[in-house]
Amino acid sequence: MEESRTYNRTNFRSSRGRNNFGNNYNSGREYPKNNDNVTIMVPSRCTGRLIGRGGSKISELQRNSNAKIIISRDDIDGERSVSLIGDDSAIEKAKSLIYEIVNSTDQRPQRNFRETREYSPVRKFSPPPPQNVPNEVPMMRTSYVRSTVVTPSVTTAPEPVNWDELREEADRYQKEKLAQMTPIKKCFYEELPEVRDMSENEVKEFRINRNNICVARTFEDPSGKSKPIPNPVKTFHQAFHNYPEILHEIEKAGFTTPSPIQSQAWPIMLSGEDMIGIAQTGTGKTLAFLLPGLIHINGQITPIEERNGPTVLILAPTRELALQIEREVKKYYYKGFKSVCVYGGGDRREQIKIIKEGVDIVIATPGRLNDLVEAKILNVEEVSYAVLDEADRMLDMGFEPQIRKVMYQVRKDRQTCMTSATWPAGVRRLAQSYMVNPIQVYVGSLELAAVHSVTQTIVMIPDDPNEKFQRFLEFCQNLQPNQKAIVFCGKKLTADQVSSELAMAGIDYQVIHGGIEQSDREQAILDISDGTVNILIATDVASRGIDIDDITHVLNYDFPHNIEEYVHRVGRTGRAGRTGDSISFFTRGDWAQAEELIKILEEAGQYVPEELSDMCARFTQWKKRKEEQGTYRGQRSRW
Ligand code: AMP
Repeated sequence: MEESRTYNRTNFRSSRGRNNFGNNYNSGREYPKNNDNVTIMVPSRCTGRLIGRGGSKISELQRNSNAKIIISRDDIDGERSVSLIGDDSAIEKAKSLIYEIVNSTDQRPQRNFRETREYSPVRKFSPPPPQNVPNEVPMMRTSYVRSTVVTPSVTTAPEPVNWDELREEADRYQKEKLAQMTPIKKCFYEELPEVRDMSENEVKEFRINRNNICVARTFEDPSGKSKPIPNPVKTFHQAFHNYPEILHEIEKAGFTTPSPIQSQAWPIMLSGEDMIGIAQTGTGKTLAFLLPGLIHINGQITPIEERNGPTVLILAPTRELALQIEREVKKYYYKGFKSVCVYGGGDRREQIKIIKEGVDIVIATPGRLNDLVEAKILNVEEVSYAVLDEADRMLDMGFEPQIRKVMYQVRKDRQTCMTSATWPAGVRRLAQSYMVNPIQVYVGSLELAAVHSVTQTIVMIPDDPNEKFQRFLEFCQNLQPNQKAIVFCGKKLTADQVSSELAMAGIDYQVIHGGIEQSDREQAILDISDGTVNILIATDVASRGIDIDDITHVLNYDFPHNIEEYVHRVGRTGRAGRTGDSISFFTRGDWAQAEELIKILEEAGQYVPEELSDMCARFTQWKKRKEEQGTYRGQRSRW
């Protein structure tokens, strides 16, 4: 029987009874069994803070108290019940932590509450832009930050900013600066006759056979004067015949043929063109930009010892990727070039020491790089070869302002390369701002064969978030303790929503997406790897590179926007000789993917639901009708 109590300090009711929640759900984390449970009532308006973004707060509370915390979804007169399960000390600890949050929320007057949540344009409150960076202001025009400044009731309208004037001023400054600098050399390629003389058909066939390389100018060139795209190379010799030392390094590595991205990227990069590589980790993309970079450093007019800073700058989203690139750089010893890897969390003093000794290549995460540039420790003004590696991931992690800031300081006539696994609007915007008539190289997935060890199930469901969540909950409840699942969501927001719902249902999980701190992401990977939790909620970008062998299930909560991503996700299970299961929710909104999905399923000998085939046929008819009317805008975002 439940007994009701009143807590004077906070006026929240509490009741105590036997634990009847503990066995309802599967969860990786073990809580003490056969404990009492206590139910307390909290104001409904506080539950958001108790759950936290993506369930982060409730997870923290559970960790810190060692009690299981279940928040009811039902609102009773402005209150919700919170069940606490665990031993006495765990329950007491959980209660005191919850009260602390509730009291701090509750004591804030309502008016202030609203005011602190107001959004204010950056330019009203931000400090003045750094000197010599006038176009930082226009860049920030459309971004909004959460401001804790209470807007006074009577505000004086800020002086209108003349963006055009600022932009012109920035351009003028850039031009003046460039005029004083030694020009840079970009072209280091001599096309061999055997490459130049390949017929159109031969080139086409080669590209198709090499993982379906697609290559095109990214943006239309109104002048129509763009140079033709160079033919791909078939051998290392065709790319680097003038650079025997580079060939020697490749030979030492034991590689036999250029990877698909390399065979097309090297002629482009060595010709001095800007390039966007749409390719994932594991395709050989690092060497695709690195080797031309080494040749570029050596080929500049200003002697190395007279340069005031690095020549090559490689920006990467995470410490892990930056270190991985550095390892590749160190493997390819060329002319004794020096490199440094700078990233947040690394030994700043040691990084500064290496920079001061002189470096040719800087590999950096955007935050730490800006920190060192602003402190005038690192001068990036002479960088003439810049790489934005995994640009989509950098944007997803909120690095756009830092990227813009640093790219403004790098000389404008530089050569720029960008890699990205996807091609969203943000990446297109970056390309438009920082690249000159780039050539895009897209390499199809290398993993199409990996899915044969996976049973792929397509679940046709209506476009209804509640239905989706119910199906998802069933999936989580049926997951056995010895099984592990990655749940893929299309957006950070969905990952957060799904996580919050799981937290409220008392199911343990971890979550990983671009908005989550690096250390928390590392913890999430550790927790799913060692079995502390058996559910990992993830977005595509954040999950890239996760390598966990014993994932038994992949659930596509949101179907991915392209089929390569589907293949990539499915390949997270069925690894290392094991079998795996993938379950994908498929709604009417995903119908443009039906045709390619059916191809993948058929190729792998999987069941194709009739409803999926019907949807595919309807989409084909719809598309044909739209094309006839001239109103078809395409459904795929990639090209
Ligand atoms: P990346 O996509 O740059 O992360 O490269 C993945 C791995 O492929 C790295 O360990 C590279 O050393 C390796 N690699 C790069 N190019 C080649 C190649 N042409 N043949 C075989 N392995 C390569």
